[in-house]
Amino acid sequence: MIPPRLAEYGIKDEEWLHTMQQAVYKNVEDEILLDIQKRSVEHDRWDIVYLLSYLAGLETSVLLDAENKIFIDWGLPGSVHLKQPIGAKIPFKLWVHTHPRMDTYWSRTDKDSLAFSTLLLQNASVLGRQGIKTSRNSTLVEIDEYRSMSDAEPLQFWTDEAIEDWETWYEDRDIMFDETNSLTNICWLATFNERR
Ligand SMILES: [Zn+2]
Repeated sequence: MIPPRLAEYGIKDEEWLHTMQQAVYKNVEDEILLDIQKRSVEHDRWDIVYLLSYLAGLETSVLLDAENKIFIDWGLPGSVHLKQPIGAKIPFKLWVHTHPRMDTYWSRTDKDSLAFSTLLLQNASVLGRQGIKTSRNSTLVEIDEYRSMSDAEPLQFWTDEAIEDWETWYEDRDIMFDETNSLTNICWLATFNERR
């Protein structure tokens, strides 16, 4: 089984199978893998981004700059930090990074990254096994009322928001799963069963 809607993004089944295999081999420089990751980002398919990171056991970071240009980075868990890639224009719209096979929360390093980018970054999300956690920067994004990540500046400007669990995330996007008994399906389900 293939994750739902891949064909809509122009991704062929064999490209997906190739990509899963490359992810398992930690071959995250693979062109097809990176292209699928980019297309997943373009379609807000953060589940696919997380799945690739999960399979590889490596952390990935995605940055959308002021012009929606996508910058992708990979590294060992905990080693991928927010940085300004060459050619990226500020303010950055979104920074998403993963906690492969780990919990969804803002780590100390993550909070340092957010504090450091208060003048540069509008929104940030972390993807982990429970789902997606987002924070918005009230100095760059209009927000009425919000709970702060901290009482002290600059984290005071960042919102503290609940995790959106994967199940709800799928439901909200009307993404349905086709339960067939293929190898890919088993792998997919095994991966995502861990989110519970
Ligand atoms: Zn993190």
